[in-house]
Amino acid sequence: MNNPIALGQPTVGAEELAQVQRVFESGWLSGAGPTCQAFERRFTEVSGVGHTVATSNCGSALHLAQLALGISRGDEVVVGDYTFPATGHSVMWSGATPVFADVRQDIWSVDPDAVEASITERTVGIIAVDPFGQPADYDELRAIADRHGLWLVEDAACAAGASYKGRPAGSLADIACFSFHGRKGITAGEGGALSTDDAELADRARKLHTYGIAPALSREGAATLPVPEFDELGYNYRMSDVQAGIMLAQLDRLETLVANRRAVATAYGELMGDLEQVVLPVEADARVHPYQSYVIGIHPSLDRGAVALELRARGIGCNFGTYASHVQPLYGEQKPLPVSAELFARHLAIPMHANLTQDEVQRVAEAVREVVSLDLVRA
Ligand SMILES: *Cc1c(COP(=O)(O)O)cnc(C)c1O
Repeated sequence: MNNPIALGQPTVGAEELAQVQRVFESGWLSGAGPTCQAFERRFTEVSGVGHTVATSNCGSALHLAQLALGISRGDEVVVGDYTFPATGHSVMWSGATPVFADVRQDIWSVDPDAVEASITERTVGIIAVDPFGQPADYDELRAIADRHGLWLVEDAACAAGASYKGRPAGSLADIACFSFHGRKGITAGEGGALSTDDAELADRARKLHTYGIAPALSREGAATLPVPEFDELGYNYRMSDVQAGIMLAQLDRLETLVANRRAVATAYGELMGDLEQVVLPVEADARVHPYQSYVIGIHPSLDRGAVALELRARGIGCNFGTYASHVQPLYGEQKPLPVSAELFARHLAIPMHANLTQDEVQRVAEAVREVVSLDLVRA
């Protein structure tokens, strides 16, 4: 059999190692140091807004975002349902309640009408998810948020390099939160970032990500001996400077990595566009989709699990798409959200990363074509 083709793969090498070496030589390995500061400055070019706080992951960035925006116990937050459950969890970490809203059939981001219908007198904000990196309907969501006096957060975990109406992901809400987990488009293994154009929100988030005090770097070189005072409960949600070094090299690659993924998506579209048993992902108007994953819908006449096993038997990495949040037992009784539930049941992620060769893309498409017409994958 040919070599297996991985579902996802980071693109890391000598450039990342060289940056790590520089961090070692600097002597500052812990978080919120000079390399994090350099990363934060560089990341504002990606997000298009003035402030970045480097974080331990996207979940911690989401938690910090809501704390900075003033969330309290008992509040409700409307959340796009089709997502990795970090989004819902992050609301619960503040003792607030996620209220899940159904998503668009075509691009899987939260349906603005469903958001509006989910608002109650307890609602304080909206978290829209950019599914696999493709931005949600931010103009409509902003109008709803403004009409009801709510804040708007972008879960941009997969969206580095994406854009909406010419504006980059990271600039589309009051605060955006990114992930640099190993499965994302740019990665430090683990890591995250919070971006905002609001200096006050950035300051609040920065304080809370260092146990509630100013980061040590701000006391370096002081003429006195500043001793910080703890006046509120913060967390250790920092990115380490080692990770920030890796991220500097990843930012150099971002444009190429997104271009490579988009080329793979275009090729898949050409090679599989005629298949009746699968629905291919679409890029909606005025968006740039960074394709953190390439997810196809398996027709209900086929058994998705059987399709997956047959693909894996041919060395093709695959997995379900992401989660319908509202059916997760943690969140208790929720109203049915049929679109998200269907995506959760039918979606299959097939290999998508920036290192795929044309030959591999062809092999994946041929395997999908072969497998979906097998008798043994009929439902
Ligand atoms: C990956 C992901 C997260 C979680 O990111 P971490 O960095 O692992 O915390 C949150 N939301 C979405 C949409 C994701 O895809």
